[in-house]
Amino acid sequence: MTLYRGRIAPSPTGYLHVGHGMTFWRAQERSRANAGLMMLRIEDLDPQRCRPEFYDAIVKDLKWLGLKWDEGPDLGGPFAPYLQSQRRPLYLEAWQQLRDAGWIYPCRCSRKDVLQAAVAPHDEDEEPIYPGTCRPENVSSSRVAEIRIASHPGGVHWRFHVSDGEKVDFFDQRLDQQSAIAGTDFGDFVIWGKDDVPAYQLAVVVDDAAMGVTEVVRGEDLLTSTFRQLLLYRALGKTPPQFYHSPLIRDESGKRLAKRHASLSLRSLRDAGVPPNEVRSRFL
Ligand code: GLU
Repeated sequence: MTLYRGRIAPSPTGYLHVGHGMTFWRAQERSRANAGLMMLRIEDLDPQRCRPEFYDAIVKDLKWLGLKWDEGPDLGGPFAPYLQSQRRPLYLEAWQQLRDAGWIYPCRCSRKDVLQAAVAPHDEDEEPIYPGTCRPENVSSSRVAEIRIASHPGGVHWRFHVSDGEKVDFFDQRLDQQSAIAGTDFGDFVIWGKDDVPAYQLAVVVDDAAMGVTEVVRGEDLLTSTFRQLLLYRALGKTPPQFYHSPLIRDESGKRLAKRHASLSLRSLRDAGVPPNEVRSRFL
């Protein structure tokens, strides 16, 4: 039997809130129930938004909450490095593979969503369906030739070409059967940014595959990203892990918790003297 390998993959862009904490707690429980291993991977690709002090806070706050991991940037392990900022050669290799197989194309459109590709798109950050302006079928043959000779990804965005109308499905360990239609529920998505930073979608697939993750536990707001990622697994010839999308914690107005909900950060709850077991019993 394959050893269960789970992961928690926070981004050091702010203090973690109870929503993150509870998703990670579930990830730990599922790993323990399967006598598995847990790793901490830090998704620090976006140099504009990630800060070392938030990395320190993640480690402290998660330990305070009662989380333990077997591998991570602080502990090392067989799949080091565990900081995405140190794993660029792997992402570059995947970019080359996708380029050579014709799955991606350069895009010169400048949109806000493109600029944010380095971080996971939660709910309101979801990108609009790309209208296809730079798709190879809509540009000149010289542009298409440019795709083949590009030797490095920076300077333009690179998008994954989805097959419009294709049904993508998977069995979620909590939500059962899930499906989406490419081109309708999500469109061609960025896998590498013009700023030369690999996008979340690419990095997460490359890492989950390379690190032998058998189940990804993450918030329900990333369901659409899971469909995109399934297309990347297929294009890269990798077997996808299982997925478990956990429920989101919402504020009184029904909004998903985000880093802006400062009073519900693990850090403020801890500073307010709320014991970690009470945090868990209140929010889990
Ligand atoms: N770094 C991503 C986040 O913090 C992780 C998403 C995932 O688990 O795939 O939202």
